[in-house]
Amino acid sequence: MSARRDELAANQDAVRRRIDAAASGAGRDPADVTLVAVTKFFPASDVRLLAELGVTDVGENRHQEAQAKAADCADLDLRWHFIGGLQSNKAAAVTSYARVVESVDRAKLVAPLNRGAHEQAGPVDVLVQVSLDPPGREGRQGADPADLDVLAAAVDEAGMLRLRGLMAVAPLGEDPAAAYARLAGIRREFVGTHPDATWLSAGMSGDLEAAVAAGATHVRLGTAVLGPRPRNL
Ligand SMILES: *Cc1c(COP(=O)(O)O)cnc(C)c1O
Repeated sequence: MSARRDELAANQDAVRRRIDAAASGAGRDPADVTLVAVTKFFPASDVRLLAELGVTDVGENRHQEAQAKAADCADLDLRWHFIGGLQSNKAAAVTSYARVVESVDRAKLVAPLNRGAHEQAGPVDVLVQVSLDPPGREGRQGADPADLDVLAAAVDEAGMLRLRGLMAVAPLGEDPAAAYARLAGIRREFVGTHPDATWLSAGMSGDLEAAVAAGATHVRLGTAVLGPRPRNL
């Protein structure tokens, strides 16, 4: 266990250095970039170690796994982010542990999320996931940039959801810097109409520098913090 702790501590140090360097290089304050440790496939014991090491935000992408892990770690003061594809019949349940739902990509999710937040008697932070893929690409996740305003309005009007900003994943097979530059433009426009929605969740282990340069406020790091996943998605 202590070997694992050392490993996670070293990984986290390395990642913080990368974030600091990227932020400084972009003329940004590193404190404006939150590390979300993506713990999918890793045990609750790792989440516990990360919390001891100062991690405040954790991300999960599958409801059942996330729910069990959050229950195991209920004594810890962690902010759980749901970052995976959401089914509307699971959306309400996700709010029982997630304080941030990053993957809202269609209006159908808004009512169940809002109902879940009501049941929790607390607002849930929402990011709208925008697709950076060309339209029609197979497996495309995220809303079309043209649909963001309608979706954001639905979130805004729901009542118990706080519209915080945007989330995106860099498309496979494209230079992430180019994709994130496009994202920065989409975000500029979005913040113009939703001035409080200033969060930008972008950047994974392989491309966090490009994301921070493009203005990311949250980077979602799995492999760089926890090591290679036991199985891949
Ligand atoms: C798994 C995952 C990540 C983390 O990926 P790494 O490359 O391991 O850092 C980030 N975002 C989403 C949406 C994920 O599913």
